[in-house]
Amino acid sequence: MQDTNSIIANEKIDTHKLSRAKKIITELYNELPDYIARGHGPFLAAIYDADGNLITKTANSVITDTCSHNHAEMNAIRAAEEKLRTYDLSSHNLSLYVTAEPCIMCLGGIMWSGIRAVFFGVPSRAVESITGFDEGFKPDWTDEFKRRNITVYGNIEPERGESVLRDYMTQNRIVYKPKRD
Ligand SMILES: [Zn+2]
Repeated sequence: MQDTNSIIANEKIDTHKLSRAKKIITELYNELPDYIARGHGPFLAAIYDADGNLITKTANSVITDTCSHNHAEMNAIRAAEEKLRTYDLSSHNLSLYVTAEPCIMCLGGIMWSGIRAVFFGVPSRAVESITGFDEGFKPDWTDEFKRRNITVYGNIEPERGESVLRDYMTQNRIVYKPKRD
């Protein structure tokens, strides 16, 4: 399923939603280098409501916050829940957009947040091969999300996102992960 040239999705997306997702994710790719320059990890997420209003936009802050949980998606969910004052976002019909496929932790965070749809850029396999980040084991996650009525649509304009990740590595920035030996 994770062919680098094919869309990763668990349902058909109408062209309006898809063109909005391409626009938002392209903006995130374009903004990401500024976050990286300020010491953030190379991932940026945003949450929008169904009318296209931005609820929150957050970068990965594992290094700046010294917290292994603070991936872009987790930060975005936390900020949205604080802003909307709820631990269950489902009634707000929110979509999460992120520059790369969510890792195993963020899949859990998304599942328990009530987010309704996930749109992402670079697939995990490409993230791992470019950077060495460990994205975790995620068997059949798009099917599992479908069973929970969470729309998934990914591999959106991945080339632009991959080039930001390559730049991150060229700049010799930190690939944070626990030692395994
Ligand atoms: Zn994550």
